[in-house]
Amino acid sequence: MDLLKKAYSSTHFREQGHQLIDQLADFLEVTQHRMLRKVITYEEPEERLEVWDNWEEGRSVNDMFAVVLNESVNVHHPRYMGHQISPPLPMTALAGLVSDFMNNGMGVYEMGADATAMEKIVIQTVAKAMRLGEKADGFLTSGGTLANLTALLTARRMQAKNDVWTQGTQQQYAVMVSEEAHYCVDRAVRIMGWGDQGVIKVPTDDQFKIKKKILTEYYLKAKKENIEVIAVVGSACSTSTGSFDDLHAIADFCEEHQLWMHVDGAHGGGTVFSEKNRHLVAGIERADSVIMDFHKLLMTPAITTAVLYKDGRHAYNTFAQKAQYLWHDASEPEWFNIAKRSFECTKTMMSLKVFSILKTYGTAIFSQYVDVVFEHGKRLATLVEKAADMELAVQPACNIVCFRYVRSRYKQQFAESDSVQAENIAQATEELNNLNLKIRRKMLEDGRFYLVQTNLRGIVYLRVTLSNPFTLENDLVELLEKVRQAGFT
Ligand SMILES: *Cc1c(COP(=O)(O)O)cnc(C)c1O
Repeated sequence: MDLLKKAYSSTHFREQGHQLIDQLADFLEVTQHRMLRKVITYEEPEERLEVWDNWEEGRSVNDMFAVVLNESVNVHHPRYMGHQISPPLPMTALAGLVSDFMNNGMGVYEMGADATAMEKIVIQTVAKAMRLGEKADGFLTSGGTLANLTALLTARRMQAKNDVWTQGTQQQYAVMVSEEAHYCVDRAVRIMGWGDQGVIKVPTDDQFKIKKKILTEYYLKAKKENIEVIAVVGSACSTSTGSFDDLHAIADFCEEHQLWMHVDGAHGGGTVFSEKNRHLVAGIERADSVIMDFHKLLMTPAITTAVLYKDGRHAYNTFAQKAQYLWHDASEPEWFNIAKRSFECTKTMMSLKVFSILKTYGTAIFSQYVDVVFEHGKRLATLVEKAADMELAVQPACNIVCFRYVRSRYKQQFAESDSVQAENIAQATEELNNLNLKIRRKMLEDGRFYLVQTNLRGIVYLRVTLSNPFTLENDLVELLEKVRQAGFT
């Protein structure tokens, strides 16, 4: 009992908490002076395991937090350019603390009344920005992966000829999606039991967008093989290159064949908040379902994802299931009992994080952020184009940029590729692939920048997501210089 009393003591908590806020604020201050701190201090998994294996029991938790702050990848750093996580607004971390502390479960109304009401308002704000119409509704869930699965389950429920939920199925169903789509769409399809044939990957054009002209060809081919296509998934945008599919073309196609249109807007959905950039997602308003990660492009801590439906009632059919201890009738459309529509039973009070942004700064902060980081993407692209020894994979549409180091002589050679033997090209490609892999590895070990890599049609590129609004032109110039140095040595 003594131990419990101590652990729950308000005095104890107050001390730890005050100290933590100071630690975090100091961390933020130092980070903003970018040169004082590395973005990442990379160590091998076994080394990190050893540190924590040897952590003494009873040592202060604030010491523990200090090590985590020092050693973890720093997403607040202006030179953090890695995976698509935005630096969370510091205030949203406080909202997260409240959520963790209150630990409301959210599945049924009483277990999260405030967060449930906030969730409805957050969803309505997004639906309005997406122009989904009067009947639109949705909910928040834990990540884009789960959100895509949930929306595709709804699509199956609404489109499939038989009731797969209760009876299973012999019929082969499928969704059509670009070959550049996030792997979680493929995973969702396999979870639904549709196997290899359940996902029809449509090739992309030179901008890595789904080839709209061949949608019909792929659809008819599937039909001939007795595969029933139920939905098309548009990527807005794709993960690797940040390419936005033509959503109007997908909407036209879906209308023509009466298919469910789903938009995976995990990364780019937030573009709807920007007047300047929302043209990239034109047509999103015609989707039957859309998902969007607040943690990718809208400064919210992971994980906070919206699932939206053009007709909000459809969501109540996803899991037509009895749960007597929670409610009488699962399909009764009660917006306030969120677990009727969400995968989770217990979930965090994630709406509080977004709601605190909306009521403190308004949606204006979203549009400012999107415009600033997309502009950074364009700037970096311009610098890469000017460099004689660098090459873009594709003109960036957003804050994701893929480029590679090519040593100048290759840039010329590729430009004249007609006159170069195919064999030589293959050899040069392989050599450059190895070189860029080496560069990325060196950059990781150096830790002054954090970026990742991708492989596009057999070519290795360095990939950055410019997610910090305070990244300067000079950071981008130095990034390229670092890449170059890593390439030389
Ligand atoms: C990141 C991403 C996902 C996965 O979302 P999580 O929140 O990481 O589960 C899905 N689709 C796209 C296009 C993404 O960029």
